Amino acid sequence: MSQGIVTVVGSYVTDLMSRTPHMPKVGETVLGGPFKMGPGGKGGNQAVAAARQGSAVYMVTKVGDDEFGAYARANFTKETINTQYVFVDPVEATGAALIAVDDNGDNLIVVALGACGTLTTEEVTQASQVIAKSDIVLVQLETSNEAVIATVALAKGHGVPVILNPAPYHEFPREILQDITYITPNETEACSLTGLKVDTEADALQAAKAIYVMGVPNVLITLGKKGCYYYHGGESGKLYPGFEVQALDTTGAGDAFNGGLAYALASGQALGEAIIHANAVAALSVTKVGTSPAMPTIDEVLAFKA
Ligand code: ADP
Repeated sequence: MSQGIVTVVGSYVTDLMSRTPHMPKVGETVLGGPFKMGPGGKGGNQAVAAARQGSAVYMVTKVGDDEFGAYARANFTKETINTQYVFVDPVEATGAALIAVDDNGDNLIVVALGACGTLTTEEVTQASQVIAKSDIVLVQLETSNEAVIATVALAKGHGVPVILNPAPYHEFPREILQDITYITPNETEACSLTGLKVDTEADALQAAKAIYVMGVPNVLITLGKKGCYYYHGGESGKLYPGFEVQALDTTGAGDAFNGGLAYALASGQALGEAIIHANAVAALSVTKVGTSPAMPTIDEVLAFKA
């Protein structure tokens, strides 16, 4: 079976992580460490997750004309991700996430999207031929709204299904919901979309119904370790339970889920099977520290599911 082609349009930021004995107060300098640098951003993480499953992945994003931009390109290449549409902004810096984690495991994060926040309609349109030959297009809300709108319009024009991961949630033109095939909010994002609290499976059904009415035929609400609730119209949906694992670091779980889902759908799996695969990719990702570096390979996932 062909492993399929996935185009990811989204963010890339460099994760700059430091441990700290306590969270600094305003104006305070704390001696922390150890420090760790790694590739991140929802788009980049999801691309890595899909590539490690075996998809041919094209990344559409923008970096700065700086060392972090070169680091991004090298990382994508190492992960076998095509960088033909990784644009370079002559002015903006490569995006960065400044992450402090204290001894309680609590974190404090500032994300500066930099170059990837300025992705334009024209740049996305340059990737039109790649979008046309893709089996799935995966997009999040961590770039400019115009890039998201252009992506959905191009995919629709070419008849290619789109997964929208509405994260991090902020207002966007709701009309695009009528042109996408799958949406993958977590509990918080489902609540932001609908105004309904999402905690239990019953809550997920109500929120999923509300999102379905907005025009999305396949609603997949991720519920952390509880798994994924799938709704496709009618009286009720179906819960696909999460896999039981020893969670070490749940950051990037949603990205692992989306990359795993994109791979599975692009390779021709039926949706139910694809959700189980995505749950497995995400469960394995939470057993490791970090985001992109924590994404499992296809061999690890197949051994885990067996
Ligand atoms: P996000 O990271 O966007 O907040 P979720 O927390 O809903 O997303 O997690 C996404 C997916 O990751 C879930 O649907 C589930 O498959 C998996 N997952 C998350 N946390 C765990 C966990 N503790 N154990 C097993 N799987 C998990």
